[in-house]
Amino acid sequence: MDYVYVPEPIPSVPVRGSQLQYAVSRIFCVGRNYAAHAREMGFDPDREPPFYFTKPANALVLSGATIPYSLGTKNFHYEMELVIAISKPAFRVSVENAQDYIYGYACGLDMTRRDLQIKSREIGRPWDFGKAFENSAVITPLVPKSEIGELNHGNIDLLVNGVMKQKADLKDMIWSVAEIIANLSEYYHLNTGDLIYTGTPEGVGPVVTGDHLVGNIDHLGSLDLYIGPAE
Ligand code: MN
Repeated sequence: MDYVYVPEPIPSVPVRGSQLQYAVSRIFCVGRNYAAHAREMGFDPDREPPFYFTKPANALVLSGATIPYSLGTKNFHYEMELVIAISKPAFRVSVENAQDYIYGYACGLDMTRRDLQIKSREIGRPWDFGKAFENSAVITPLVPKSEIGELNHGNIDLLVNGVMKQKADLKDMIWSVAEIIANLSEYYHLNTGDLIYTGTPEGVGPVVTGDHLVGNIDHLGSLDLYIGPAE
């Protein structure tokens, strides 16, 4: 095929302990999936069904990178999250069977331009400016589910410059990984290449140039991110 221009390679994530890359097509993100985080954002966690937003696949950036302080924001936030990678076509799957559609897991950061997100939210406009932008989907190499089994509980935390900012347990999710896959599969034909960022615990906050972020999830190792100057 002859393209008008030379396209970039398909965004992909390395698989830990392997030479393989997991090619990414879509990135779904769950909003307000930990009760204490919903409350810190000013919402009642008991009354809301799950909701989603998306990021483009080319927003991915691999752990260890330095990213510029993002454009157009004065309140650039971290959100530490468990990421799941889908293994095969998933359409209208049951909660009971949903774990069969997981290829693997990763640590992720849903980087957020909080001032732009909140401004959009308040006037009923889309979240894209706050959520779907360059370098906004940080991720570690994937750990295959075949190596560690189902990941339904365990520590998730984030440190900024060595200071603990977020700490919770994966079992504190309002909607479990299986429930999220089942619910999303009612609205999309999920497929290999789809990533799901499963929401962040309480303790979100701003970063500044020079910050070093370290995130941890049990069995998945650590995520590193450095914040550089705006460019
Ligand atoms: Mn998030």
